[in-house]
Amino acid sequence: MTSVKSSNLGYPRIGEKREWKKALEQFWVGKLGKEVFLKRIKEIYLGHLQKQKDEGIDLIPVGDFSLYDHVLDTAVMFGLVPERFEYDGGKVPLETYFDIARGTKGAVAAEMTKWFNTNYHYIVPELDGVVPTLVENRPLHFYKEAKQKLNIEGKPVILGPVTFVKLSKGYNKSDFKKVVEQFVPLYASILRELQNEGVEWVQVDEPILSTTLSKEEVAIFNDVYQALHEAAPNIKVILQTYFDSIEHYEDVIKLPVQGIGLDLVHDHGQNLTALKTHGFPEDKVLAAGIIDGRNIWRANLGEKLGTLTEISEIVSKDRLIVQPSSSLLHVPVTVKTEEKLDETLKRALSFANEKLQEVGTLTKGLQDGHKAIQEEIKSSTVAIQKLNQSPLRNNTQVQGAIQNLSEYKAKRDSPYEIRKGSQEKEFQLPLLPTTTIGSFPQTSEVRKTRLTWRRGELTDEQYQEYIKVEIKKWIAIQEEIGLDVFVHGEFERTDMVEYFGEKLAGFQFTKFGWVQSYGSRCVKPPIIFGDVSYKEPMTVEETVYAQSLTDKPVKGMLTGPITIVNWSFARDDLSLSDIANQIALALRKEVEALERNGIRMVQVDEPALREGLPLKREQWSSYLDAAVYAFKLTTSSVQDDTQIHTHMCYSDFEDIIEAIKALDADVISIETSRSHGELIQAFEKNTYDNSIGLGVYDIHSPRVPQLEELTRNIDRALQVLDPKLFWINPDCGLKTRGIEETIASLKVMVEAAKLARENLLVNKG
Ligand code: GLN
Ligand code: ZN
Repeated sequence: MTSVKSSNLGYPRIGEKREWKKALEQFWVGKLGKEVFLKRIKEIYLGHLQKQKDEGIDLIPVGDFSLYDHVLDTAVMFGLVPERFEYDGGKVPLETYFDIARGTKGAVAAEMTKWFNTNYHYIVPELDGVVPTLVENRPLHFYKEAKQKLNIEGKPVILGPVTFVKLSKGYNKSDFKKVVEQFVPLYASILRELQNEGVEWVQVDEPILSTTLSKEEVAIFNDVYQALHEAAPNIKVILQTYFDSIEHYEDVIKLPVQGIGLDLVHDHGQNLTALKTHGFPEDKVLAAGIIDGRNIWRANLGEKLGTLTEISEIVSKDRLIVQPSSSLLHVPVTVKTEEKLDETLKRALSFANEKLQEVGTLTKGLQDGHKAIQEEIKSSTVAIQKLNQSPLRNNTQVQGAIQNLSEYKAKRDSPYEIRKGSQEKEFQLPLLPTTTIGSFPQTSEVRKTRLTWRRGELTDEQYQEYIKVEIKKWIAIQEEIGLDVFVHGEFERTDMVEYFGEKLAGFQFTKFGWVQSYGSRCVKPPIIFGDVSYKEPMTVEETVYAQSLTDKPVKGMLTGPITIVNWSFARDDLSLSDIANQIALALRKEVEALERNGIRMVQVDEPALREGLPLKREQWSSYLDAAVYAFKLTTSSVQDDTQIHTHMCYSDFEDIIEAIKALDADVISIETSRSHGELIQAFEKNTYDNSIGLGVYDIHSPRVPQLEELTRNIDRALQVLDPKLFWINPDCGLKTRGIEETIASLKVMVEAAKLARENLLVNKG
């Protein structure tokens, strides 16, 4: 019998209307009691399972659901509670779980970082000082629950031991293997208990296999999975990879597991090539990730079925599972609720629920042949064709420009040494100039006013007037604080990408297209669906108004092209660099408009440059080249004495320092406060010849920094950086901070700058 199976790897937690988020946040502020909260959460979760069952998915994931993060879930399952939190062993209480994630008065929250190359953040497990023990078999619990409540024979999802340890901190990297080995017996117990319960399939996620690994690291997999197989020989383990191709294909397919899950969408074609070149073992199942789990476009079902059919010549149908390329955590829940979207776009979209339908359709098609799903294939082809024919995807002017990019200058007229001279004359700034990163506190009043305006209860003029009042207030505050370079404060922006997306052609916005970013925090990425082009000035009015109120220079403030792409759902019919360059050409017009209107400093933020780095090192340079080019295309048409700033907010940037230099911004500001020492070290090893501002205090906490602390940070930086090139600024935008603490902190910063200047003069004299 040939029976193709359908499967899913994970379902969005947040709910159609973010019910999950709301329940969590109400619980945290005490508006929901624990019992009611847990009950509500359970309803939401069981609803998700039921949905997948209704869609006819054969292997429904259980245990992928979370109250915060699946990496944290895994850590607490092993009793890994950092020492600064109270814990006496046993199952980790819910309160402790949230404390680790969110911090308490006495203990800082665990660090959070990006989940591979996505915009999802996980909680970094801390392995130091605690011995892992299995305090609760979480997958078993979820398996039983699905079976009892919904009669679902679930597929437990577990984050695999090698990836788990790799993502953790608090151990010596040279002990990696030993640390992994500590976890093997615990995973063995989990699997053994699952086996005893009658579980057939388990999905063990090892996305680390899609990154660059050494032969030795791959060898660890063999030992680990051999041990797990011996512990639970009857259970079928699907070793699941995603987000890219697996590098050591031939080794991986030999691992002692019963199935391998491959990403056939984000693999640059390499998984399929490997399959064709090296074949696939006859005793294993192939879980084919054919539907894009990370982007929102409807699949071309005809093409997809073609690929699956090709694969079925290598792997027989009874050993094939059809599934999304990754968990659907990274896409919104359903297109259905989008009532106001442009019809052409809407028909070409597919969110989690629609993707499950696509998986079902392809499963049927592979099983029963092309004819069986003819209608669906046709409808997907038509939808995609219509989208491709839509005028917004056929802007000949934009496309022409992209074809003739060499006509656009992507290099400043003069080298930095010369520009620096002209800029010094232009701005007459003191040594160690002080500035901020762009945004000032977005108080609830600012947000409320924007909402009222969006609802139509304020006219455009009234809203703009309100924004101007805020700008004026903050120009006065900046005068009083004594900063050297001002900003207008970004009060008109909810979000640094959305704001520009709404003003450029080629973007669309959903109503409920949220995805989880971290914890209960969700983002609603804009959709880049057409050719991007400039319509009208986007920031000139606010910036020029701010500049009219002061003699100090006001920086124009734009979001850079790579950040806009990385924080959006981008069209998948164009390359990343084409999309980024379209945006760059549009932003370039804004830079020019600012310059023409007397704004002589322009900051182009690229906080998402690093997170877009491909998982494989060999692809880094082509990505970074594209990012650098798009930035330079945005910023290079200005005069020598117009000063280009950029800002990035992460500290471990050694990997990309060459790219940062290549941006050739006149001034860069970088977040550093949380690991000041490390960043300074990076500058001991590398040189940076343009001006640089290292964040001298951490804006992520409401605390007002002490003068001594800032002085220390500045002194340390000046040991490795040239004082003539050094700027003093907080480490990121201040939009999440309160007004009073912001003013107080900036005053301390200005004071510290003054002291540092005096010291420099004394030492010189
Ligand atoms: N200019 C932005 C701000 O200050 C930069 C934000 C960021 O780096 N993420 O808010
Ligand atoms: Zn930042």
